[in-house]
Amino acid sequence: MLTQPPAGPALAARLARALARPAAQQPRWPDPRRTAEVVAALHRAGPVVTAASTARLRTHLAAVARGEAFLLQGGDCAETFAENTDAHKTANLRTLVEMAGVFADRTGLPVVKVARMAGQYAKPRSHDVDAGGLPSYRGDLVHSAEATSAARIPDPGRMLRAHADAARTTALIGRLGAGALPGAGDVYVSHEALLLDYERSVLRLDDSGPEPRLLSGLADFLWIGERTRQHDGAHLALAELLANPVGLKLGPATTPEEALAYVRRLDPHAEPGRLTLISRMGHTRIRSVLPPIVEKVAASGHEVVWQCDPMHGNTYTSANGYKTRDVDAIADEMAGFFEVHRQVGTHPGGLHLEFTGDPVTECVGGACALTETDLPTRYRTACDPRLNAAQAHELAHRAAESAAACLEPRKAVLR
Ligand code: PEP
Ligand code: MN
Repeated sequence: MLTQPPAGPALAARLARALARPAAQQPRWPDPRRTAEVVAALHRAGPVVTAASTARLRTHLAAVARGEAFLLQGGDCAETFAENTDAHKTANLRTLVEMAGVFADRTGLPVVKVARMAGQYAKPRSHDVDAGGLPSYRGDLVHSAEATSAARIPDPGRMLRAHADAARTTALIGRLGAGALPGAGDVYVSHEALLLDYERSVLRLDDSGPEPRLLSGLADFLWIGERTRQHDGAHLALAELLANPVGLKLGPATTPEEALAYVRRLDPHAEPGRLTLISRMGHTRIRSVLPPIVEKVAASGHEVVWQCDPMHGNTYTSANGYKTRDVDAIADEMAGFFEVHRQVGTHPGGLHLEFTGDPVTECVGGACALTETDLPTRYRTACDPRLNAAQAHELAHRAAESAAACLEPRKAVLR
């Protein structure tokens, strides 16, 4: 029922089998009938992104995979309904566009811009229960962050609100691109494909590729997170079926053999840029864990996009009790990423960051020298600590230097 008639019976059956697999990190909706009604309403609601924009992103990511462009992806850890304001979205987009400008100027290569936006409403959690003894907050797509047990009851109606807000956000990106922020005109949108009842809802048949697949209309780019990449799980099975370019987070326990197995499954036809491998190792581990992974995948002939997420392996709790990250640790993981690719001779395709254009105090360090005592001043995130605009700019400059240095040996070969 779910994907017919647009996707055809064969793909609909594969989708049903994928979704029947064990799925980590899903809420228990209190009323399955209401959930089914919402999923049906989402089917009718239509896409948030156009098929044309996703097709364009596919060609741009192929260029990144071939070493002809960079990918810059970022935004809030978790979007919230309360912050679905034009001001907040515009500030985040402005930061993304400016960071991309820094990269393009320094390296001379085009930069593909992908926002964590217009659907980044669901969060995986390491613990089911939070510090206050309540069910952990799983994002506005599921329930409210308010600290009461009533507020934490999953409400499927929120998927409709998220879809409407996501559509408003892509409309805003379009307006900004045509007016006040021209650089937003080619920003793509992305989120973690986490909440399967949302992800299953807007899928269309796409037979423009090497095999018929399902095109998600909910985002141009979707990624599978560190906590939902089980080999036998529903998330990977869904990602295999998608026509959109997909990403996969790889934490420090990943082995080269495991990475190659993921690559073979998610990029079976060896399409450049079809798969983005997002390493999030932690700054103390990237230099030892990443090289054999890159070597093994590169030797297989698959042209993936190598992307560095220097945020999620470097999170810790400050002495005064805030989840935070240190700009120096983030910079060090990025430096390690560029060193590894320079040594192996592969293209350091891009970065995946959590930032906002708002003047928050969530990460420590940087030129503004934020300390742990400053954290309570404007600590606003619904989930993980974000770089503020000043910290994000600073890191863009540091990363662009490393990226340019990494390109030098290859430019010499080309000359
Ligand atoms: C995230 O990107 O917000 C996230 C939860 O990342 P990871 O899956 O790498 O922990
Ligand atoms: Mn996060």
